[in-house]
Amino acid sequence: MEPVKKGDILVCSQCSVELEVIEKCDCADCEIVCCGKAMKVKETSSGSCC
Ligand SMILES: [Zn+2]
Repeated sequence: MEPVKKGDILVCSQCSVELEVIEKCDCADCEIVCCGKAMKVKETSSGSCC
């Protein structure tokens, strides 16, 4: 998995919990696990609001 960036939202496909990244990760292989599975970066509709 790619390193997470500040502002990324991670979601667990198992329990649907969501986490926001406060500090970016510099690991080459970043893997944040929930429910025994690697969490995925949620597709965010970033950009302008409205
Ligand atoms: Zn979970």
